[in-house]
Amino acid sequence: MPVFYDTHAHLDYPEFAAELPEVVERAAAAGITRVISIGTDFESSRRAIQLAEQFPNVLAAVGWHPSHVEEAPEDIRPGLRELASHPRVAAIGETGLDYHRLPGSKPGAEADANADTRYKARQAELFRQHLEVAAESNLNCVIHQRDCLEDLLQQFQPFARRTRGVFHCFAEDAWTMRRVLEMGSLVSFTGILTFKNGQNVRDTLAATPLDRLMLETDAPYLAPVPYRGKRCEPAYVKEISETAARVKGCSLEELSRATCATAEGFFRNLREG
Ligand SMILES: [Zn+2]
Ligand SMILES: [Zn+2]
Repeated sequence: MPVFYDTHAHLDYPEFAAELPEVVERAAAAGITRVISIGTDFESSRRAIQLAEQFPNVLAAVGWHPSHVEEAPEDIRPGLRELASHPRVAAIGETGLDYHRLPGSKPGAEADANADTRYKARQAELFRQHLEVAAESNLNCVIHQRDCLEDLLQQFQPFARRTRGVFHCFAEDAWTMRRVLEMGSLVSFTGILTFKNGQNVRDTLAATPLDRLMLETDAPYLAPVPYRGKRCEPAYVKEISETAARVKGCSLEELSRATCATAEGFFRNLREG
């Protein structure tokens, strides 16, 4: 059976609390032999590390999600450094920028022309702190980006020689994909690949070199067809891989070899497990 990795799942979320051993077991049974559990704040990152200690095929990424910047400490670097030094930590993240719900656009928001500017500046500051810790820890970064592409590329560029990013849940066009790869970074694809309205993402995947991409679920979100709308779990990388192989016109074995080798080169200690 071809083996795949789920390079982005939120196993610490409450959706999985009742049956974690079963979720990890079902993943392994489907050939998904590694799962990176992604932290979204310090608490979530600590839980991800605990899961990585508990399950040999789980590793952790530690970071603070851009949508939660308002709850973040002024300087997250000391806490992040400490988390990143744990041997079960494979990467920094998720981090990045998210302009999808700016404070100025929230219902009932006060008319404050500067609120969005301040929020964006705060996201930029937190992103930079992640990149600094990643660079000094020799770790790569799991990057979240939504409605912010130009700002993100501009802020990442100065670090592009010191850390690599994986632009997760990638849903941009082929031109943007090439700009990401030119910086030495990677892209990863979710179950959106299987959606009826996911043709633009399939087109981008078709144009992506086989050795520059990874697969992920982003569980509990984005369950692939035929589970669309239900809770997603790492086992469903199987369905994602089947669509990805068809789009790439390669065998599952080729896709397995390429994506696993890419992930092993990106995430610390992933090969060893
Ligand atoms: Zn994300
Ligand atoms: Zn995520």
